[in-house]
Order: sequence, then structure tokens, then C-alpha cells
Amino acid sequence: MSSNIPRSHPRYESLMMRERLASGFHKGFVHETGLIAHGRGEAFDYLLGEETLPVADRASKAAAAMLLLAEHPVISVNGNVVALVAEEVVDLANRIPAKIEVNLFHRTSDRVHRLVSRMEEAGGKGVLGRNADARIDGLGHDRGWCEKKGIFESDVVLVPLEDGDRCQALRDMGKTVITIDLNPLSRTAKTADVTLVDNVVRSVPRISFWIDKLKAKSECDLLKLRDEWDNSSGLDMVLKNICSRFQKD
Ligand code: ATP
Ligand code: MG
Repeated sequence: MSSNIPRSHPRYESLMMRERLASGFHKGFVHETGLIAHGRGEAFDYLLGEETLPVADRASKAAAAMLLLAEHPVISVNGNVVALVAEEVVDLANRIPAKIEVNLFHRTSDRVHRLVSRMEEAGGKGVLGRNADARIDGLGHDRGWCEKKGIFESDVVLVPLEDGDRCQALRDMGKTVITIDLNPLSRTAKTADVTLVDNVVRSVPRISFWIDKLKAKSECDLLKLRDEWDNSSGLDMVLKNICSRFQKD
């Protein structure tokens, strides 16, 4: 898909994201409902000023500490995430290091294969998802499938743009769940251990930044960062920030 959007357009970044999603849809990566989910995200991004809030940056730091402390960290990706940040996810996975698993709400073998191939093209090694051989406890339907050596056995899982039910089911399995979700009111945002209320295009590189900064820290320092994070106060701060934008002028 070619784009005629000039760089000088004030909404260039946002329009390019739409182009990447539309192109991902035509290539069979993105589910049609993923386009709608992106629209909900865009609306919240507008309310956040399309920038990383200080509280989202602190969440990225806590998330990086948790990923470094993990024994089996996994990054779960879906169609929208692959369409927007395939290379950035591979970069983050290499730095931690963590496994990558394609895990879909609307699972079809064809879409899983396309997405695994796209992640491999982006440089991902051993990308999981094709051999779903385990189930997330308590989730019926195809969205419960995952790989035993991936999400099923993970202790810390990064699930950007996740469904609220599945986020809860992963927590019920005892996993530490980190999510990236522009909607601070979503069930996912409220259920996760750490919620980065930010756009995946900004937040994935930001976690990588913190991984590099924290890599040399002691386990004790990382545990402190992990334990200091309070997700519900983080979400309150985001909501206060959004409300204050309405009160200006
Ligand atoms: P639930 O309450 O079950 O968590 P939801 O509102 O999160 O529902 P879903 O369809 O499960 O809706 O997931 C889409 C979520 O992803 C939305 O909350 C939307 O704000 C968020 N989202 C969409 N695009 C992006 C993006 N580029 N970066 C970060 N978050 C995004
Ligand atoms: Mg959600």
C-alpha cells in the first residue's frame, strides 16, 4: 500500500499508523476487529496528548525490572502489535532476553503462520505460536490456546493490547502480567500488574531503554523497583492527567 501523506502533515505519525494497520489488514496480519480496536486506542491517545506521560515512563521502568527478574519472560504479540512494532518487539526480546509468541484472540492457523513469518522476517529467532499445545486455564474457545514452552510456562508475560478476560486468566495462573493499553479504564488496564498507558509505538522502545539502564542493577534494586510499583495509583494519575486537559482554558 502506498501513502501520499506528506511528512509536514500535522497528524503524520497518526496517519502513518493507520496506513500500517490498513496494510497489515490487506496482508492478512490484522483482523478486521483490530482496526476498530485501534480506533479506540487512537481516541485515548488524543486525550493523552499523543505523548508518553511521566507515569507511563515509570510504569515502563517497573516493567523492565520485572522482565529482568523473570526466569521465563515471554512477549505475546497479536496482529496489531506486529503491524505496528514488529522490529521493536524483536529488539526488546533480544535485550531482555525473552521469547516471542504469536497469540491471537481470533486464532486461525493461517493468520498465526503469517504473523510468525513476519516476526521472523523482522529478525525474531524461535518465534512461538504455530504449535499451540497447551491451554490458558479457564478460557474456552480458541483464544485459550498457547504454547507450553511459551506463555503457558512463562512467569512474566508482556501482553500488549490484551483482552480483559485473558489478562485475568493469566493472572489467575499466577503469572505477572504487564500490559500496554491506551485505555486506562479497560478491564485489561485494571487487571494487569503493570499497565503502560501509552501507545505501543512509543512504549516498546521505552521498555528497551529501561532494560539497558537497569541491566547492571542488583537483584535487590530490581526487586525494590518491582515492589514499589502501585498499578491502581498509576491508573489514577493517568486519569487525573486526562481530566486536567479538559479543564485547561
Ligand atoms: P477490555 O476491557 O476487555 O480490556 P479493551 O477496551 O481493552 O477491552 P480490547 O479490544 O480488548 O478492548 O483491546 C483493545 C485495547 O487496545 C483498547 O483498550 C485500546 O485502547 C488499546 N489499543 C489500541 N491500539 C493501541 C496502541 N497502538 N497502543 C496501545 N494500546 C492500544
Ligand atoms: Mg483490553
